[in-house]
Amino acid sequence: NSFDGGMVSGEKIEGRWGTYFAVPLNTIMNANEKNTIMTRTKATELITDEEGRVTGVKAVKYDGTEVEITANMGVILATGGYAYNREMVIETNDYWDKDDLKPDILSTNRPLSMGEGIIMAQQVGAATKGMDFTQLMPLGWVDTGHLAGGTGENVIYISPAGTSNAGKRYVDESAERDVLCQGAFDYGGEKGLFVEISNAGNRTKENNVEGRLYICTLKEAAEMLELDEETIKNTIIEYDDAVRTDTLHELDVPKSAATALIGNYNEDGSFNEEGLLAVRYLAPSTHHTMGGLVVDTSRRVLDKDGKPIEGLYAAGEVTAGFFAGNRLGGNAVAEIIVSGRIAGESVTKNK
Ligand SMILES: Cc1cc2nc3c(=O)[nH]c(=O)nc-3n(C[C@H](O)[C@H](O)[C@H](O)COP(=O)(O)OP(=O)(O)OC[C@H]3O[C@@H](n4cnc5c(N)ncnc54)[C@H](O)[C@@H]3O)c2cc1C
Repeated sequence: NSFDGGMVSGEKIEGRWGTYFAVPLNTIMNANEKNTIMTRTKATELITDEEGRVTGVKAVKYDGTEVEITANMGVILATGGYAYNREMVIETNDYWDKDDLKPDILSTNRPLSMGEGIIMAQQVGAATKGMDFTQLMPLGWVDTGHLAGGTGENVIYISPAGTSNAGKRYVDESAERDVLCQGAFDYGGEKGLFVEISNAGNRTKENNVEGRLYICTLKEAAEMLELDEETIKNTIIEYDDAVRTDTLHELDVPKSAATALIGNYNEDGSFNEEGLLAVRYLAPSTHHTMGGLVVDTSRRVLDKDGKPIEGLYAAGEVTAGFFAGNRLGGNAVAEIIVSGRIAGESVTKNK
């Protein structure tokens, strides 16, 4: 968990990006003493022989040194998706309205998710599919686009000031990511900005993060959001009544499930004006790319005629087809481990 994220240039990236890195790192290093990991080295091109078989990779080290890596058995591309590459996302997009998915959308990804593996494979004739749909993450911080985290169960999303729905709910907060993002584009503010409100629980103003998260009373929230206090209060009370009476499905904007109230209440049932709420500023950002290289079940990369490109394999988010149109959260890590193992077995058995 302690690995920093970083770029080839040596620049550190905020966040614990290396969480998943420790396991494969140890596995690779322990598997064979000859194994080498070249960090801060960028693959630029696949090397092919006269028959078109992939026999290696050209790369450039952080100090500009060019290297060529020979692959006797094959090359496995595991270069991830292209969610950070907004140009590629928009160029291939055929799902989101172009007025919603715009070049200034932020990303939950590091600047390394540029789709370079896809481009390198395309240069040797690889086919792609499913690149028309990029998964957007509704829970991105409005200032950086990084993952804010959380779930939709015990929160409400309301439209910000300046919109026709200001201060009111507009979506089932437990819905799928694409539904939540479309709701944010339709009922949110600039770039799909929306406001999440939940009960502060044991959080205090000490937890405030400028521009992102505020622990505050209803009055303070209304002032900060420039929204009508009564409108927000009515939204919360109507929602909380539905939670108490198990009638969430009867709300004007129905909700699938919730187990906790948003507001704080006095013993006589009246709204506790001094009770604390947690207010977060969120917006959709590009998150995961379901499309990519076409592979067969052995993880061989296929060309446009459906034939394997000899010596070329791919695993993980660089490939297409596993998640269809909308990946369910949590499944990508399982997929990358399984597909990586299959690709590894295939390349060693020359399948
Ligand atoms: C913030 C965030 C949270 C997520 N949380 C979850 C979760 O909880 N559960 C889940 O299942 N999924 C989650 N996902 C999705 C999941 O993490 C990714 O789908 C998965 O990490 C993809 O794995 P990968 O190995 O294919 O690619 P990556 O993890 O993206 O790794 C690709 C690697 O290739 C390197 N690379 C790229 N181009 C080159 C090049 N030209 N030369 C050399 N190296 C290159 C990159 O630097 C990177 O290290 C999350 C994604 C994000 C962005």
